[in-house]
Order: sequence, then structure tokens, then C-alpha cells
Amino acid sequence: MDLFNIMAKEGHEQLVVSTDPETGLKAIIAIHSTLLGPSLGGCRFWAYKTFEEAAADALRLSKAMTYKAAINGLNLGGGKAVICAKPGEKTPALLRAFGRFVDSLAGLYVTAEDVGMTMADLETIRGVTRYAAGFPEAMGGSGDPSPMTARGVLNGMRACLKEAFGSDSFRDRTVAVQGLGKVGRNLVGLLHQEGARLIVSDLDVSRMKTAASELQAKTMQPNRIHAADCDIFAPCAMGGLLNPVAISKLRCRIVAGSANNPLANRADAKLLHRRRILYAPDYVINAGGLINVACEMEGYQKEKAETRVAGITENLVRVFARANEEKVTPLEAADRLAEERLAKARAGRSGP
Ligand code: NAD
Repeated sequence: MDLFNIMAKEGHEQLVVSTDPETGLKAIIAIHSTLLGPSLGGCRFWAYKTFEEAAADALRLSKAMTYKAAINGLNLGGGKAVICAKPGEKTPALLRAFGRFVDSLAGLYVTAEDVGMTMADLETIRGVTRYAAGFPEAMGGSGDPSPMTARGVLNGMRACLKEAFGSDSFRDRTVAVQGLGKVGRNLVGLLHQEGARLIVSDLDVSRMKTAASELQAKTMQPNRIHAADCDIFAPCAMGGLLNPVAISKLRCRIVAGSANNPLANRADAKLLHRRRILYAPDYVINAGGLINVACEMEGYQKEKAETRVAGITENLVRVFARANEEKVTPLEAADRLAEERLAKARAGRSGP
């Protein structure tokens, strides 16, 4: 499908492109929606092979940000930027050129960290534009979003437990966590405190060993963890690992984790539904980091951020209630709730 058609079908507002021969910058900013507020989304630094591939990624990711902000009650829209370059090509001059590109949109898009970018890069960008968010705590920012993402996942799991078992207690529940990176290792710590039994897996064996010795977690090989006998399977690694074959091997009652797009295809949500496995839609349960950054934009207060991240429980309760009512998957229910908020904002904006 060509880019115009994708944008028209998915409802994107803008796709803006910038090049700077002096620094080698090749960047794209996709703005899906500014209906609820300025579009916010990370900047991905990646060696895309073609312009089309980079633009399609930016468009897809920006739409997901709109839905994530909408369903979590944030007054933010959805945007995403990509810088097309190889890791060795990142220079302060290139980042500043990107910052000027962001600045030229006068606040329609606010940039943040994503794959291939660091907080230090963000500081460089902030030197030329105020439209950047997600700074270290020492700079008055909200710091690394991962602990808050993990907290949000824990809160979301409570709603899942209540829905599936009638009690939100983690005692005597077994949670299998795939991926012990920035989010996963925070999550297993929280789950341990809640009294959950843990099964963990990571490609990095040392991370598994640490969890086994510190949290009495059982370990499993990365290619088998999805088949762990557990109550909750928590994908906290890369997206797309839950394909139809992996789904057929799940032995859990709930899938709830931080990974973006954990399902190989959105349609696979129906396979989970048919197997009576409760799925917490990714963009509802993994929004803790985004909520944290949104709090930074209002003047960061950790307690306030934690209170808002606690709202993820209630959000998922709403999603499951809607799914039950309308006999659809939780993913479809979440989409409907997000789209309704957007439609309301659109109606309010169009006036008499
Ligand atoms: P990370 O890169 O710090 O950690 C990922 C971990 O997964 C690594 O330890 C890696 O070795 C492991 N891994 C990769 N493939 C694996 C496999 N097949 N089996 C087992 N382990 C595997 O990433 P992160 O920041 O912890 O994010 C994890 C997921 O959550 C990603 O999908 C990310 O997009 C999503 N997410 C993160 C945040 C955040 O605040 N960091 C917010 C929202 C969503």
C-alpha cells in the first residue's frame, strides 16, 4: 500500500521529512493525531533500508501512541520520529539538526527516547528545542521510565487476576517472565515482593542466574519459556514472539507483559480468546512509562506519577468489562474505548 493510502486509511495528520547534507541527517516525523494534545512519541535511531520502510514504521508507531495516550486518559496525541542512520553515524551535530527539525514543528510533536537513543542524546537535542521530554532526575526530569512501566504492568496484572480468578492476589500464583531487561528485572522484583512464584528466561544467562539466586526464580530456556506451566505469561522482551505456533503451546490463563506488539499479528488476539486465555492489550498495560513522561511535562512529582500509573488497573477493568459486554476480544474493546475518546474530542473540536 502506498504511503498516502496508509495515512488516509489510518487517519494520520502529517508525515514530515527532513534531510541535512551537512550532518547527514535523514529523519521522518509522523504525527498521527493532535486531537487530545501535542503528539508525543520517542525517536527511533535505526538503519532502515528504504525511505518507505522508515516512513511505514513511523506511521505505525505514531498511531499506537495515539491509542496509548487516549485510553490512558492523557491529554496527548500520538507521534513518532525515526532517524535513518547506522549506529556509528550518530554525532552531536546530527542530533542538533534533528532537534531543529523537531523545533520547526513548534510543539505539534514532542520527542523522547526510543530504540537506539539515550538520555544523553536527548539532552543534546534539548539544547536546540524545548519540545523534548524524558530527562534524568538530576535535571528535574522523570528519569528512566522502565521502573514505572514495570509498576504499571504489575497494576495491570491485578486486573487480569481479578478477571480470571476472582481475586487479585499474587500469592501462590506463578508468573513466567520472558525477558529480564530494564522492565523485566524491575517487574520480577515487584512480583517477588507480592509473593508470586517466578519462572524467568533471558538470552543473557547472567540475568537468569541473578533472578534465580536473588528471587528463588526457576529458569527456563528462551525457546521454551512461552510453554511454561503458569498463571500469567509476561512477554517483556521483543515484540512479535507470540505467533500462532507459540500461542498453541501456551499453558497459562493470562498473557500480560510490557512488550510492544507481543502478538505476531493483531488477529492472533482471537486465537488467545478462543483458547480462553485473557490478553491484556499491550498499549493499555505498558503505558506506565508514557504516563511518567506525561507527568514530567506538567512538572514531575513521583507520587503523582505513581497514582496515575495505578489507574492502569481500573483501565483494564473497563477493557475487560467492555469485551465481555460486546463479546469481542480485549484488544478490540481497548480499540473501541480509545476511538470513542478520540471521536468525542473530534466532535468537540468541529463546533456548531
Ligand atoms: P531491554 O532491551 O532492556 O530488555 C529486553 C530483554 O529481553 C533483554 O534482556 C534481552 O536479552 C531479552 N530477550 C530478547 N529476546 C528474548 C527472548 N527470545 N527470550 C528471552 N529474553 C529475550 O528492553 P526493555 O526496555 O526492558 O523493554 C522490554 C519490552 O517492553 C520491549 O518490547 C519494549 O518495547 C517494551 N516497553 C518498554 C518500556 C520501557 O519503559 N522500557 C515501555 C513500554 C514498552
